[in-house]
Amino acid sequence: MPDWPEAMGSPGADYLVVGGGIVGAACARELAQPGATVDLLEQEFIGGGATSAGMGHLVTIRGVPGELELTSLGVEMWRSAPAELLRCAEYVRAGTLWIATSAADTEALQRQAQAFGALGIEASLLDARALAAAEPALSGAALAGMRVAGDAIIYPPKAAQWLARDAGRGRIRVHQGVRARAVGADWVLAADGRRFEASAVIVAAGLAARRLLPGLPLLAKRGHLLISERGAPRISHQILELGYAASTHAQDAVSIAFNVQPRPSGQLLIGASREIGVEERAESLEVLARIARRAVHFLPGLATSRVIRAWTGLRPATPQGMPMLGAVALPAAAGRVWVAVGHEGLGATTALISARILAAKIRAEALPAGLAGGFDA
Ligand SMILES: Cc1cc2nc3c(=O)[nH]c(=O)nc-3n(C[C@H](O)[C@H](O)[C@H](O)COP(=O)(O)OP(=O)(O)OC[C@H]3O[C@@H](n4cnc5c(N)ncnc54)[C@H](O)[C@@H]3O)c2cc1C
Repeated sequence: MPDWPEAMGSPGADYLVVGGGIVGAACARELAQPGATVDLLEQEFIGGGATSAGMGHLVTIRGVPGELELTSLGVEMWRSAPAELLRCAEYVRAGTLWIATSAADTEALQRQAQAFGALGIEASLLDARALAAAEPALSGAALAGMRVAGDAIIYPPKAAQWLARDAGRGRIRVHQGVRARAVGADWVLAADGRRFEASAVIVAAGLAARRLLPGLPLLAKRGHLLISERGAPRISHQILELGYAASTHAQDAVSIAFNVQPRPSGQLLIGASREIGVEERAESLEVLARIARRAVHFLPGLATSRVIRAWTGLRPATPQGMPMLGAVALPAAAGRVWVAVGHEGLGATTALISARILAAKIRAEALPAGLAGGFDA
């Protein structure tokens, strides 16, 4: 584990961030401008929570209104992030390959490519032959593809740890093992009785933000992931079926969509499932079997690979499908606190841009150009 600077004692800070997942860590770094001090409170360890359970695919995606703009800016910010962050986060610009399984899907991919192109996002269409050349391990179930070359892969816990440690601009005091019990407009009361003070309080506690701010409309979307042994079929992109985009906003009890990531180790990270409102962390064998079957349908060579680990994580979602980035009123006119929550399955992708949006709002500055809105608290 990294050494955290000045984790003890704290005269008032400029900002208090509750939650050291990838979103809270990104907010802490963004707010730590020269001369500013940020206290970052994390009940367990930096980069835990949903951040430690995710896939780390930095993906440009077009789901609900505003999502394409937000994710493309998020991916762009990662691309131009400091080299040291990219190295530490194990950033690989693998690109995304979306695959179509029907004529209707193929037409939908064409519309996607146009929408991406209109925003200046590089997206190229692949017919069946080009697709087979790009990813020979894919089965004939994949009829056509769209490659988004700028998308990438990171390892989110390490990214969060770097973000929380980067004191290049200001000062971040990391307090691990400190659970916030209550929050006010300019204070946080910790479970151990300590009181922290700052000019502004930011709650970035993922799904657990509901406990600190009970009115927040957050819900869990449980996801299962599997990882194969080394020597699995070789792929070079993160590959998703087109239906994955729809599944992220589906209302079905359980939705499964093929989503596979090549790891630098030669293993494959295999997803993905979504179960709305399920907070039980124990794995469901039935869901795991469905994910595995879907993966073998597209990558037949996987049938002889062993899965060495499976786990679940809880994506923190909002009803509108976009993160909440802004101020919420406290009960009894006790002022307001800032929130950066509800990133669902895109928190790694959007952590840097979300932090920039929130910081701009806190400082009453102009928002980054190119956003289409949709993320208000
Ligand atoms: C299966 C799965 C696959 C995913 N795949 C991707 C992907 O490919 N690409 C992508 O972009 N995103 C992906 N995600 C989503 C991404 O992981 C999340 O959106 C992101 O991690 C949310 O980060 P967060 O910081 O908001 O929350 P969290 O990571 O949950 O962090 C919140 C932190 O707050 C702390 N905390 C909570 N309460 C308190 C308190 N009272 N006091 C102090 N600390 C507190 C917690 O301990 C935790 O560390 C995936 C998620 C899952 C589950």
